[in-house]
Amino acid sequence: MFSRILIANRGEIALRVIRACHEMGIEAVAVYSEADRDTSYVKLADAAVCIGPAAAAKSYLNIPAIISAAEVTDVDAIHPGYGFLAENAHFAEICGECGIAFIGPSPAAMRKLGDKVAARKLAQDARVPLVPGSDGPVANEAEAVKIANKMGYPVMIKAAAGGGGRGMRVAHNDISLHKAFGAARAEAEAAFKNGTLYLEKYIVEPRHVEVQILADKAGNAVHLYERDCTIQRRHQKLIEESPCPVLDERTREELCKSALRLIKHADYHNAATVEFLLDKKKNYYFIEVNTRIQVEHPVTEMVTGQDLIKWQIKIAAGMPLELRQRDIQHRGVSIECRINAEDPNRNFTPSPGRITTFMVPGGPGVRVDTYLCQGAVISPYYDSMVSKVIVHQPTREEAIATMKRALREFQIEPIKTTIPICLEILSHNLYVKNQVDTSFIERHLTNT
Ligand code: ADP
Repeated sequence: MFSRILIANRGEIALRVIRACHEMGIEAVAVYSEADRDTSYVKLADAAVCIGPAAAAKSYLNIPAIISAAEVTDVDAIHPGYGFLAENAHFAEICGECGIAFIGPSPAAMRKLGDKVAARKLAQDARVPLVPGSDGPVANEAEAVKIANKMGYPVMIKAAAGGGGRGMRVAHNDISLHKAFGAARAEAEAAFKNGTLYLEKYIVEPRHVEVQILADKAGNAVHLYERDCTIQRRHQKLIEESPCPVLDERTREELCKSALRLIKHADYHNAATVEFLLDKKKNYYFIEVNTRIQVEHPVTEMVTGQDLIKWQIKIAAGMPLELRQRDIQHRGVSIECRINAEDPNRNFTPSPGRITTFMVPGGPGVRVDTYLCQGAVISPYYDSMVSKVIVHQPTREEAIATMKRALREFQIEPIKTTIPICLEILSHNLYVKNQVDTSFIERHLTNT
């Protein structure tokens, strides 16, 4: 087993990994930018190294600075968290070349699945149903129009290297496809330095359901059931839960097995999430694989009792996955709300600042993953998600009630957060009755 791990990330996920390390008797090394010098995760690490100024390009995305920090502190492994370098195959490769274990998949598997066009091909080979779409990349607007007319509108233009909803556009006819194609390409080029685009049929009013997988280096793999991430704002998840409340047992089993087939076919090890869309008729379609730990991993941990970060570390250290599929139980209902420092009344613009009042909820069934504390400063430089509230109860009704109670207790002053909108959703008739789809927030909530 490793004796020291560096966490190439910040905020709540850095703290989450530090906690797992400490419970496993492993020392944790934090890295931080000048803007994060005084944060809790830096204080709780066994050692910490400043890797550059606030701008992520110069710190958390600065590969030479991170590798130097790893060498100076003599770590055996690097955990990349999510975001930043987590899905950067080049970074994983450099770690390997420096004799440092990368806590994640091999660079080859990451490349295969990180390219969404290549991942669609793999899914097809593994007999996993996928969203109808172009066979590969779409070269230009004329070709896009041709494919869209064959497939039928509406269609979605997507970036092969996509993530975070960037490079994604819906088109309802030839004219809007022409317009959107150039914009999507420019956005993808700016965000990923890769303007490759492809087309998918736009699935109308779907739910987002994803399957958690763990696979070891010896070829053993299990699924840890599904998460439902239908509550999204502009294609970004806000509330997640497990199990998916509308899946029957047979579909659920098929979905989980499909995900497992794809991961096995990709010769993959470590944690992965296979994402699907579920249409009104409960048909599911593969959309992409995330080759890292997800923000919403705690809901799976709550219902299965498995610690996914510890499994990631064990697998990277070459230990066998001791879990058999039949050992993985699914108990109760878990919901997670993402607390973002954003102002819902100002179109969700970030709301950074110093926290003067901070009181976290607690009590039965409540888990809060956050790096914040009284006096902490929420920096304008990074993602606005500052906290996650996770609840676990025997039934969905009880989980909703516990989440509402927890969110009402949560005080983060004076910044604006997504707590009020999460509360509005949790009380909404359609959410309670499971009659939501991915456009629920835009269609049914005020001020969004
Ligand atoms: P990203 O990696 O940029 O987050 P995803 O492919 O994971 O993009 O899609 C994010 C969200 O966008 C999905 O959860 C869903 O709400 C929406 N979406 C993606 N593809 C489609 C599609 N073909 N039809 C309808 N909605 C889609």
